[in-house]
Amino acid sequence: MRDVHLRSTLTGIEYPFDRLEEFAENGESLEVVMPGIEKARARPGDRTWDRFAEFMPFEASHPELSLGEGSTPLVDAGPALKEYTGIDGLLLKNETMNPTWSFKDRGSIACSIMATERDETLTATISTGNMGQSMAAYGARAGLGVLVFLPDFAPREKILAMAVHGARVFRIGGADYAEMKSRVLGLAPRFALRIVSGNGPIRAEGYKMEAFELFEALHGSVPDFVVVPSSACGHIRGLFKGYRELLAAGLVSRLPRMVVVQAAANSPLVSAIRTGSRTVVPFRDFHTVAEALTSGKPPGGEEILAKAYEYGWLAEDATEEEILDSQLRYARSGFFVEPGTATTLAAVRKLRAKGAIGKDDRVVIVLTGSGLKDLDVFRLHAVEVLDCPVNGLEGRLESVLEEERRT
Ligand SMILES: *Cc1c(COP(=O)(O)O)cnc(C)c1O
Repeated sequence: MRDVHLRSTLTGIEYPFDRLEEFAENGESLEVVMPGIEKARARPGDRTWDRFAEFMPFEASHPELSLGEGSTPLVDAGPALKEYTGIDGLLLKNETMNPTWSFKDRGSIACSIMATERDETLTATISTGNMGQSMAAYGARAGLGVLVFLPDFAPREKILAMAVHGARVFRIGGADYAEMKSRVLGLAPRFALRIVSGNGPIRAEGYKMEAFELFEALHGSVPDFVVVPSSACGHIRGLFKGYRELLAAGLVSRLPRMVVVQAAANSPLVSAIRTGSRTVVPFRDFHTVAEALTSGKPPGGEEILAKAYEYGWLAEDATEEEILDSQLRYARSGFFVEPGTATTLAAVRKLRAKGAIGKDDRVVIVLTGSGLKDLDVFRLHAVEVLDCPVNGLEGRLESVLEEERRT
């Protein structure tokens, strides 16, 4: 089942697998085509990458490049979140437990394998933070030079984390994120540089592994909905591609319906899906606390719209207030996620309230990134700390305990 190649996702134009540019000339996103996928089988092995090697386009599974990504827990959401959303079968796939605390690590190992198998020594990425940090870590592991281009609003924790892994970080001022992205991507051919964005075909292959893990964790049954906060859209389409390939191989009998979630302040896909548009609704000069969801005009986003209509996906947004409230609700249930991730809770609650999701449906929300990655947001949260001098501790403790025992 070699003969692997790339194909544009709307009009089916074919390209070689090792094409440097991540999109077709006409702007469509590309995906990896694996002839013979119908015959692919899961086989025994310790790592998911070994068990699903026949579903992957690489020559080998390269455990030496791994930082231990994946195999993240799928956990019951707990009573408070189930009650809040009105969904009894709510599950959380906790991707904050990856090596750099977001699902981006799954795509980064795929990019690192791709570069290594092609003897490339440098890789580059455009990021608002999480992807740059992840690529920096995986580049360090693989011995690749890493260049990161990021907008000047990226949070300090993420910038520092990239630099500490040894990446060359370019903080780019004076451009809106979408504009900056297209300018940087345009430089790839001139410098013969593989610049990986959030929606490249190789990165999407890494995200397939999430579907394989869900397949195993749910013993072959398929959730009704998988909820993904989306920006560049590599994640949602990669995860869905994993399921499409499981279906093609006859390992599952149906596909889950995906739920696209965005911040209301920047919802190029959700706004389009609401009106049935086949082109994304561009957003500019927006501000949102969900800074991981910053693609105002995601390249290749039309593929997501086409899939949404073809497969009956849902779409919902969350306002700034709902995002902050959801972040606290997740935290009060034990899950500390970043604001971009928190969009999902409010969105799922609204979809349930509208009847789009049923009470008894099995719903998996992907917790995409850790709350520790963006501490600046705590300006907006009232988190209480009790300051008290050591001499006053006993009295203070007494009154707090009284309060606690009353509630
Ligand atoms: C990158 C990112 C997203 C969006 O994923 P896309 O693949 O760009 O759609 C969501 N949440 C977090 C925490 C992220 O880092």
